[in-house]
Amino acid sequence: MKKIIFATGNQGKMEEIRDILGDLGVEILSMKEAGIQVDIIEDGKTFEENALIKASAIAKEVQEDNVVVLADDSGLEVDYLNKEPGIYSARYMGEDTSYNIKNQNIIQRLEGIEKEQRTARFVCAIAAVFPNGETCVTVGTIEGYIGWEPAGENGFGYDPIFYVEEYNCSTAQLPMEVKNQLSHRGKALRSMKEKLIKKEK
Ligand code: IMP
Repeated sequence: MKKIIFATGNQGKMEEIRDILGDLGVEILSMKEAGIQVDIIEDGKTFEENALIKASAIAKEVQEDNVVVLADDSGLEVDYLNKEPGIYSARYMGEDTSYNIKNQNIIQRLEGIEKEQRTARFVCAIAAVFPNGETCVTVGTIEGYIGWEPAGENGFGYDPIFYVEEYNCSTAQLPMEVKNQLSHRGKALRSMKEKLIKKEK
């Protein structure tokens, strides 16, 4: 493997990816940096399927040899809401609806619900397509619960309403380094890193 292309345009994600995979000693590029642009229809039924759809679509565009393509798909599952918004997390209530509104809506839907039934998790699947066409997927999760009000300024998306027991605060109240240590994406990335290292042996 001489290069990794990660199917995201999100700079925040690229920083986390470089932080975790940086010591592999391989060049890591976003699809934009690699000059690849494709519209991908994420019509999978699971995080794993969607991550594979993205990685495979990008892999088709890669002209060089020895490139591994990675892609992720992530979201929030709220148990009381039958795991909504799940794979529709970004599209929940419409792509352009602010997270203030999305977060308030989820809190409202849990009105009167006790803590034990407010359990939720962030899930992240990372898919890899190897130069020989083989694929693999890793999954990471972080367990928590939906709070009664949004709190915190860090992070993004559903972070202000997602509380972790261990720290007794929302993931938007955690410093970024702490969240990256605990996070679904960090966990999935670290297990993907192990797979990449094994592949090279
Ligand atoms: P995607 O994987 O970039 O498509 O992200 C899916 C959506 O899941 C995001 O737009 C957020 O709404 C939500 N999400 C995924 N990870 C996180 C997180 O770490 N914090 C808050 N929201 C998240």
